[in-house]
Amino acid sequence: MSSRIKKFERRITKSKQKLKKYSEKIKKYAYRFGIASPINFQLIDKDPPQKMYPCNIGILYSGTFLKRYSELLSAHLELIFDSCFFNIIDLGNHHFSKKDMKRGIKKEKYEIKVEKASERHQLHPTNKFFQVLIEKRIENNLDMIACITKLPIYSSSNSDIVFLFGEANIDHRCSIVSTLLLKEQFYKRKRNRNLYALRILKEVIHEVGHLIFGALHCQNKKCVMSFAKNVEEIDYKYIGLCHSCQEKLEKLKQVYNF
Ligand SMILES: [Zn+2]
Ligand SMILES: [Zn+2]
Repeated sequence: MSSRIKKFERRITKSKQKLKKYSEKIKKYAYRFGIASPINFQLIDKDPPQKMYPCNIGILYSGTFLKRYSELLSAHLELIFDSCFFNIIDLGNHHFSKKDMKRGIKKEKYEIKVEKASERHQLHPTNKFFQVLIEKRIENNLDMIACITKLPIYSSSNSDIVFLFGEANIDHRCSIVSTLLLKEQFYKRKRNRNLYALRILKEVIHEVGHLIFGALHCQNKKCVMSFAKNVEEIDYKYIGLCHSCQEKLEKLKQVYNF
C-alpha cells in the first residue's frame, strides 16, 4: 500500500515539475510578444508633490539627438507659461537597459493610407516612462517633469488608444511626448525639420499644460491646449494659449500669488 502511495506521490511531483516548466515557457512566450503583466507597470510614487507655483520642471530626453531642442523648448515654456517656472532643468538623455527596453512592448501594425503600405512598430507603454520620470523627479527634487522620446508609445491607462502623440499623468506630475508620429517621413512625405521641431514644441507645451491646467481640453482648435487627433490638427494649432486659457493662467497666478 505504502509503495503505491509513494509511486503516486512521485507522479504528482513529476507533474508539478512539468507544469512549472510549461508555465515558464508560456511566460517567456508572452514576454516575447509583449504581453506584460500590468503589475510590472504599477506606478510607485511614495509622496507625489502638491501643486505649487512657481515650480521647478525637468525635461528628460530619450534619444540623444532630441537634446538639440532643449534651448528652444525652455524658451517657449518660459514664454507661454509666464513665470510658472523657477527653473527649467535639462536632465539629459535616458537610456533604457536592454531588459527594460523589452518590457511591455506591443507590436502594432500601422496602415499608411496614402500608400496603402503597412509597417509594424514596437510600442512602449506610457507607464514604463512614467515610472522612470517619477524616480527622476524625486531624485532631482522637481515639482513636475516632461519627457521627449523617439520611441513610439501606447497608453497604459486607455487600451483603446494606440499610437499616441503624448500623455500626461496629472497625479504623478509627469508627461511624455513621442516624436515618431511627428515626422513627415512617417507619412511617407519629405522630411521637414522646421515642421518637426514646431510639432515637438506644441506637443510638449500641450502635455505640460495638462500638468498645470488639468485633463480638460480647450475647445478652441487654434489653441495649443486643444485635442489633436492627427498631425494636421497639430499643424493647425498656434504655438500658444488662446485667450480663455490665458485667463486661466492669470487666475492661477492670483491663487498662488506669483
Ligand atoms: Zn491633451
Ligand atoms: Zn485654449
